[in-house]
Amino acid sequence: MILTRLSLSNVRNYAALEFAPAPGLNVLAGANAQGKSNLLEAIALLGTGKSFRTARESEVVTSGMPTAAIAGDAQVGAGMIRLSCTIALGATGTRKRYAVNGRNVRYATYLGKLRVVTFVPAHLQLVAGPPSLRRSLINTALAQESAGYYAALAAYGKHLVQKSALLRGVVESDDALLATYNERLIETGTRLILARRAFVAALDERARAVHQGWVGDADGTLELLYASNVPVEVPTEDAVAAAFTARLRTQRDSESQRGVCLVGPHRDDLEFRLGGRALAAFGSQGQQRTAVLALKVAEYGTLEARGGEAPILLLDDVLSELDRDRQRAFLHGVASVEQAFITTTGDVDVPSAATYRIVAAQLEAAG
Ligand code: ATP
Ligand code: MG
Repeated sequence: MILTRLSLSNVRNYAALEFAPAPGLNVLAGANAQGKSNLLEAIALLGTGKSFRTARESEVVTSGMPTAAIAGDAQVGAGMIRLSCTIALGATGTRKRYAVNGRNVRYATYLGKLRVVTFVPAHLQLVAGPPSLRRSLINTALAQESAGYYAALAAYGKHLVQKSALLRGVVESDDALLATYNERLIETGTRLILARRAFVAALDERARAVHQGWVGDADGTLELLYASNVPVEVPTEDAVAAAFTARLRTQRDSESQRGVCLVGPHRDDLEFRLGGRALAAFGSQGQQRTAVLALKVAEYGTLEARGGEAPILLLDDVLSELDRDRQRAFLHGVASVEQAFITTTGDVDVPSAATYRIVAAQLEAAG
């Protein structure tokens, strides 16, 4: 996939921007606070319909303005498509609208048309931070890849909220209703579990190879393990549904005593291991960073291989995390991707790259 045109209006510090990115590597260079990360955020927003920086998307709208608009054209497998996403501030909250080829569509239809893989410095917390970060990585990737996954995730989330309300006594206790919610959680959750398991297995294989290519065997093998809240030996729909049902039964009393949903993929995790040991507990900063970058490269490769098309790669401040040799190895790897955007406060030495200098939200081609 290649983004060929990006147009911003009142997005963060961009009053107005027209940008025609190049295929291959686009380097966005500039001093601090000029708008480099904001531009990446806008591209990710165009693709995923969500900000990678904030859950409060009103923050994306330029201060003092009522509406932000992001539009763009992309070359995808199915041809050229035109996307647009607007965020409007209103008295009753923030409202987002999505359009594909000029036609307003629901979010579920919009998502996945332009796929992105993003690295931001906050992802360095992926190894040692809370499990929600790791689940979010998996969900963001799989929801872009599959409308069915997104639908299951949305439905699962809805049933979870309903069941929580029941367990907490917000709505009156009702065994039949609880059984219905559990059935729906099993149905939608099983789909999530199977998709996550296959995805993590693919990530594991790729991340291991990437990591080995970068650092050899010195630190031991990198492993990514799916720590499912509903573990099964054989990943079939029946086996997962049966394990889910059994676990719900054994945890039933705990769930009602604590008023919390304890069973299901909302409690899943992804575990990083290096040389057989938990990376979160034993890894150095550098080892954790390298593992996260290997994971990101693996995510990109997995989405490309399974989707038959390369997503767009967005890399914010990735170089400042690496020593010179690892910078070189990393840039060598991304120089050949279909399209990538990388921000830097310094220089990036890739002869084939298109370089842009950003000063106070103005973009200028620099070679
Ligand atoms: P760094 O190298 O420090 O990461 P950057 O070029 O990535 O810098 P950005 O994060 O893109 O910088 O931010 C650029 C500017 O945009 C900052 O000064 C920030 O305060 C400003 N900004 C952020 N949100 C808004 C907004 N809603 N309205 C106006 N300006 C904003
Ligand atoms: Mg930045």
